[in-house]
Amino acid sequence: MVKLEKIDIYEVEVQRKSLFRIATGTSSTVRNTVIIIKSRDNEGWGAGAPTRVTGETLEGISEALHLIKREIEGKEFETPEDAINRAENLIGKHPSAMAAFDIAVYDLFSREAGLPLYLYLSERHGTKPRERIMTDMTLGIESIEKTVEEALRSKKAGFRALKVKIGLDFEEDMERIEAVRDAAGKDIMLWADANQGYSVDNAIEASDILHDNEYLFFEQPVKWDDFEGLKKVGEKSKIPVFADESAKSIEFVERIAENHIADGINIKLMKFGGIRRAVEVRNIAKRYGLKLMIGCMGETSLTVAAALHLAMAFPEIEYADLDSQFMLKEDLAEGILFENGFLSIKGSGLGVEIKKKTLKTMG
Ligand SMILES: [Mg+2]
Repeated sequence: MVKLEKIDIYEVEVQRKSLFRIATGTSSTVRNTVIIIKSRDNEGWGAGAPTRVTGETLEGISEALHLIKREIEGKEFETPEDAINRAENLIGKHPSAMAAFDIAVYDLFSREAGLPLYLYLSERHGTKPRERIMTDMTLGIESIEKTVEEALRSKKAGFRALKVKIGLDFEEDMERIEAVRDAAGKDIMLWADANQGYSVDNAIEASDILHDNEYLFFEQPVKWDDFEGLKKVGEKSKIPVFADESAKSIEFVERIAENHIADGINIKLMKFGGIRRAVEVRNIAKRYGLKLMIGCMGETSLTVAAALHLAMAFPEIEYADLDSQFMLKEDLAEGILFENGFLSIKGSGLGVEIKKKTLKTMG
């Protein structure tokens, strides 16, 4: 049994190094709600990132976590899932708030067990863990010249995979796709994400250009609720089509799987409500033969570490887009290692240390 002796909730706001633009908007800062759960001997950390995908706000996440605090502080639980189920019963559908609590609980329980989280998870689920994961670096939407510059800079920094954001200007995108391939060379893996920006016809045309330029897959080409359109693009496309915004909850993942709407799912802890739910998505994907990738929202190393552990524990997760922490001027936590395009992490629990002075107490 682990007793959740004390729960503290904070807010953190960190600046990005530069403005990040995708088809659905731009952002200059990352704001998260942070939760710290203390047992007698250890601390577990988690955070929630508000996004338009789940429709949550920072204030809403904080309120939900305060409700959990009121009801759960001082209680003992046998497993992380017991604590997470209890919290979910309290706050209902609140994916990013649940992700914050879920990550902190898994961090705490794996620290109590003296194991890195990925080994704790792989032991409990009987999987063969990996020691490191390759990540891409995302190229936000900029002029073609700037995109090419960023591609070369990322290659020089050691990245072996790049995700090219498209979806604002179709004609320019087609040039961008080719320009990045030409600049990056054949030894760099490329994929593209339109963040819902295309019509079905444009998406099908784009998928041909992506295929010709040896891009590995195509993420969220059309509007999230156009399931028929997404399926049509998938049927015509010669490269796999991944659902991200369309796969905004477990229910939608089931719908996508049962109706063969996409070839793959982008797992994000903030969309599904943390690690426990992400494991469910992995189970559905396995059952239906869907591909898996893992991504993140505007997050810091704290929760990117949780996604990294999940991907290290579950080898079915084929691609990783865990790069939000690289885009921050000042990170909330440290501990994720980056070498030759691969991420790894050491130590028990999440394996990261929070810089507590960056935290602000909430209400
Ligand atoms: Mg995406």
